[in-house]
Amino acid sequence: MGSLVSSLRWQAFESFFSLSRAGSLFASSTLKLSSFPAPATVAATYLKSAAPPPQQKHVVIIGGAYAGLSTLINIQKLLSGEPHVASPYSPPALSSLPRTPPKITILDERDGVVHTVGTPLVHTSPNYAKTTQHFWKKYEDIPYLRGVEVLQGRVESVHPDRKELLYVPADSDGEKGKSLAYDYLVCATGLKRAWPVQPRTTKKEEFVRDTKKLVEELIDAKDSVVVVGGGAVGTEFAAELKLTQPEKRVILIHSRNVLLSTEPLPDEFKAKALELLEEAGVEVMLNTRVLDESAGELQLSTGATLKASHVLWCVGRQHPSTTYLPAAALDAKSGLVAVSSTLNFPSSVANSNAHYAVGDIARWSGIKRVGSALLMGSFAARNLVQSMVAEENNEEPKLAEFPEIPPMLVLALGKKAVGYHQAMGFTFGEEPLKQSFGDDLGLSICWGCLNLEVDGTATQTGEN
Ligand SMILES: Cc1cc2nc3c(=O)[nH]c(=O)nc-3n(C[C@H](O)[C@H](O)[C@H](O)COP(=O)(O)OP(=O)(O)OC[C@H]3O[C@@H](n4cnc5c(N)ncnc54)[C@H](O)[C@@H]3O)c2cc1C
Repeated sequence: MGSLVSSLRWQAFESFFSLSRAGSLFASSTLKLSSFPAPATVAATYLKSAAPPPQQKHVVIIGGAYAGLSTLINIQKLLSGEPHVASPYSPPALSSLPRTPPKITILDERDGVVHTVGTPLVHTSPNYAKTTQHFWKKYEDIPYLRGVEVLQGRVESVHPDRKELLYVPADSDGEKGKSLAYDYLVCATGLKRAWPVQPRTTKKEEFVRDTKKLVEELIDAKDSVVVVGGGAVGTEFAAELKLTQPEKRVILIHSRNVLLSTEPLPDEFKAKALELLEEAGVEVMLNTRVLDESAGELQLSTGATLKASHVLWCVGRQHPSTTYLPAAALDAKSGLVAVSSTLNFPSSVANSNAHYAVGDIARWSGIKRVGSALLMGSFAARNLVQSMVAEENNEEPKLAEFPEIPPMLVLALGKKAVGYHQAMGFTFGEEPLKQSFGDDLGLSICWGCLNLEVDGTATQTGEN
């Protein structure tokens, strides 16, 4: 049953977040997939040795969401000797494990993991205002974190030379910072986006309150609700709002002549996104900028004014959560971590091989998506455990290289989705929505990938 469940989860993972088979998985300087036993059959075992067990290492993971929790569960899986899930995308198996399992700490400013993908639904639907709590799972409610130290606080700085970080604990009123020493560090802190695209609080109870207030304001909106920004987030917000509050006039304003203008996706995809939005009843204004917003009125670059009872800003205002890292670790232009192909910090940083960055904060090919974040976590876990083995045995670690990710995206637009995948091509309609997002904007699928249970009853997307 367990293996069936995990294989079904993996299928869901591959359908929603799938990676192209194109591109080499492992580059020549590192290990080839064929150097390892077949992934599905390998159950790793601890090396037996008469020597005293090496000192316990401390692994700290900053950011306990998709990428951070994926790193954790993959480390746990490797250490327990569980067989790898057979997939062409899995990192190569290990032939031995550390003699002394590490201590693991998760450090996050929030008190739980948030299903960010579901935000357009949670922040617009009257129904989801009642069930918002399912989209934020507190760490204290996650069984597999019981053997792990969980700290709530905001990381302020990381010092790779002395393998130490400084953070402000959530309960300190911002006054007292604390230091934390580590042997290996995984940074998985994602991108910061402004409310209402992302929660503005670090506490679940406040998130539920914020969301309820926002949704009530949307319900009360007498004139139109205007969504500004026709990227992936804005289009999904507009579509979910129209789906869950169909009586509302929803207007999406975008500055360019095509939606999703900055995404490396085919024109056909962008045209279909526009068609599906309009079919769903969203009014789309292209080539239009909002110049000013005051007293419920928007001044537009076209010279027109527009009455708006509520404006949802889904444009710009996002940056990588990397300000706590030394400049040497970052790509100067984007602020993302300039990871190596093994997901380590660049070699110019002291102890670079003891430092990893995964998920949205890593500078890598492909569109920033949950699928990449989860997969990066599994590679970082594998390389980190292999580094521990190598350190114990005084050997050079044999690290796996993360594959290049081609552009791909599935966009949920109300009752339908539009998708593009380099190997599988272009797809749209109700079936892709069901396959990729289920009926809860991906909550059950993503929670499944993170070994989390969805609490309470599932709620249909279309219900109010
Ligand atoms: C509205 C919206 C819709 C989306 N829809 C989709 C979709 O349909 N499909 C898809 O694949 N992707 C989608 N994405 C993108 C997806 O959410 C990201 O790719 C994903 O969240 C990346 O995961 P992550 O773990 O790297 O970062 P995050 O999920 O951002 O998690 C970062 C974690 O780090 C913590 N953190 C940040 N800074 C600090 C600090 N200084 N100290 C301590 N902790 C810190 C945060 O609290 C958080 O828990 C969407 C994004 C948004 C905003």
